[in-house]
Amino acid sequence: MRGLYIHVPFCRQKCLYCAFYRVIPGNRFQMETYLRVLDMELSEAEGIRFDTIYVGGGTPNILKERLLEMFLDSVHRHVELSEDYEWTVEMNPELVDLDSLEMMKSWGVNRLSLGVQSIYDEELRMFGRLHRKETVLRKLELIRKVGFDNVSVDLIFGSPWKGPDMWRRELEEVASWEVEHISTYHLTIEEGTSFHAMGIRNPDDEVMERMYILRDEVLSRYGFERYEISNYARKGFESRHNLIYWMHQEYRGFGPSAHSFVKPNIRYSNVPDLERYIEDYEGNRDYEYLTGEQLLLERIFLGIRTRWGVHVGDIDISGLEEFVELKDGVIRLTDRGVLLADRIAVEIFHRMMGSHRSPD
Ligand code: SF4
Repeated sequence: MRGLYIHVPFCRQKCLYCAFYRVIPGNRFQMETYLRVLDMELSEAEGIRFDTIYVGGGTPNILKERLLEMFLDSVHRHVELSEDYEWTVEMNPELVDLDSLEMMKSWGVNRLSLGVQSIYDEELRMFGRLHRKETVLRKLELIRKVGFDNVSVDLIFGSPWKGPDMWRRELEEVASWEVEHISTYHLTIEEGTSFHAMGIRNPDDEVMERMYILRDEVLSRYGFERYEISNYARKGFESRHNLIYWMHQEYRGFGPSAHSFVKPNIRYSNVPDLERYIEDYEGNRDYEYLTGEQLLLERIFLGIRTRWGVHVGDIDISGLEEFVELKDGVIRLTDRGVLLADRIAVEIFHRMMGSHRSPD
């Protein structure tokens, strides 16, 4: 399996929690210039067959009409896809429109990921989002009308404005929209974001734990299975693109700030700066050659997040039984382990390397 990621770095506004690389477009010419450079960069994808494309950002559906056509045309000219490919485009609800949906469908996009984040208008306002719940409902109807049958919804939990009861009601409502996939992201307040500067903090650990438990309870009741720490899908609708990351398969990233991983051990990233990307996308790349230890740590970190777990062989898990189970050399997180996944991954790594450290 091999995936291709494209970063569209434009947003109409900057959400207050966001740490992704994005800019508010100066004018149409800037977007056209980006698309021309992206077209050149995408020629590097020629000769490789991809199983998935994921268009993220930023806000990919800020591209409309001729700009959208230029984008789709570039992908078509340079990217060869396997027969049963998955091609996802991230969308901000307020920018969903019939013409763009129809154009995307006719060019082969077959999965949409809708950045809903919350069904509570007050919370959306606090996040700095431009849409409201009513917008989402209208746009979902449009998406179905155009014939998209693989739709994912993103939600955020862990803000000070949504306690466990509101979170339960939100999950129940979104699950009843009958989408195929739900991603639930724990709000991380990263340095450099407006939320961090404003002193916004997550609820305490006990509340967060209740919210994690509620998530499993509600979504499983509606027929969703958790297949990765943050992701739930109806049977057969797991995100194949994200599985490529978690299974440590190869992926190539295009556009400013995009990352690539080429086997056996090369990771490189494009500069997170639109001007410098346009000036010289190739010369401004950062390359890293991962050591065996780094590769192992990454493989554990990513693989342990999935319900399939990660092969670690016959290691000693004493003291960790509450958090992981080990069967036939494959280690998986228990429901309790999900809450401590990163710390457990580090502990497993140290045990595999022969140095024990306890997960405090
Ligand atoms: S729309 Fe998405 S990428 Fe843009 S600022 Fe908001 S969260 Fe970040």
